[in-house]
Amino acid sequence: MEGGEQAQNKQIVLRGFIVGTPKETDMELKVGKAKMKVVEGSRSVLIKNLYLSCDPYMRGRMREYYQSYIPPFLPGSVIEGFGVSKVVDSDHPNFKAGDLVSGLTGWEEFTLIAKAEQLRKIQSEDIPLSYHVGLLGMPGFTAYAGFYEVCSPKKGEYVFVSAASGAVGQLVGQLAKLHGCYVVGSAGTKQKVDLLKNKLGFDEAFNYKEEPDLDVALKRCFPQGIDVYFDNVGGAMLDAVLVNMRLHGRIAVCGMVSQQSISDTEGIHNLFMLITRRVRMQGFLQSDYLHLFPQFVDKIIDYYKQGKIVYIEDMNDGLESAPAAFVGLFSGKNIGKQVIRVASE
Ligand code: NAP
Repeated sequence: MEGGEQAQNKQIVLRGFIVGTPKETDMELKVGKAKMKVVEGSRSVLIKNLYLSCDPYMRGRMREYYQSYIPPFLPGSVIEGFGVSKVVDSDHPNFKAGDLVSGLTGWEEFTLIAKAEQLRKIQSEDIPLSYHVGLLGMPGFTAYAGFYEVCSPKKGEYVFVSAASGAVGQLVGQLAKLHGCYVVGSAGTKQKVDLLKNKLGFDEAFNYKEEPDLDVALKRCFPQGIDVYFDNVGGAMLDAVLVNMRLHGRIAVCGMVSQQSISDTEGIHNLFMLITRRVRMQGFLQSDYLHLFPQFVDKIIDYYKQGKIVYIEDMNDGLESAPAAFVGLFSGKNIGKQVIRVASE
């Protein structure tokens, strides 16, 4: 500290807009300074970041032309993402020093939050703090809203989830099982397939990287066809699923991680199946359903405390590890929800 007013503030900065798959060198570590007091009358909050979330959507914010729901990052600026943090100083009536909060923050040790209303106060529950960027955070809520609101699931239906062992997919599969569905997941390694079957309770799972023909793999797992597809990947998997959909099936288009770093995205050939099988295919954003967030938290905490769901995290230590962890999302290096532990409470 300098004169008790400033602290060193390590930061991860985006060097410039990127093309193709993200690389560690697209980001760099800088050491800045953070003031340890907020300005009176500013209604701002200074937080110390404890856990940071690595999410695939952040890749979209690293490109210049970005027709989307959220603006691009500014080259040379600290990367923004979801985190769990502790309030150091506050000029906002809703927060005081020592409060634990979750919300959008910076990839740095300390962040000054100008619009503190977006922060959520974390109540002291008997649940790991880091879960507030995973199970109880944006990815968990995506699974909840996408499955119940977009997939319109019914007991006994056949459900398929891609990127099934990831932050979103692992919860979708477990919610579908609790709903009485038959659930199959795809993932990119044998270890992930084993986790899906032996820890996360999926009925069946397969390694899509080892399947010479995705259509054959899907027909093997779903001889009767698929009622609900929770799509996290897009591309060839979506195309193969389309021809395996049952009458009046639903496809929730959650994400297209396989297409995210490609400028010339792959075409989908089997859309005609939407007509012949009367399938509803719907894209969604979790943020459209935020009115359901309180009921999501109550339900998931309840399931978790009853031992009905588990959650797998992939925890990296230190802010310095964040670029590599983020890059790893696009080659499937993460096993479960990718989190960075920046500091202890
Ligand atoms: P995640 O699954 O924890 O991590 C990404 C995973 O994607 C990797 O581990 C990898 O798993 C898989 N992957 C990477 N490249 C791939 C490729 N080329 N083809 C197929 N799979 C690939 O990520 P997440 O946070 O749960 O997000 C899952 C999806 O949901 C993403 O598409 C994300 O953008 C989307 N999402 C949408 C919303 C929304 O509101 N709509 C909100 C949150 C997330 P494998 O080893 O299995 O390949």
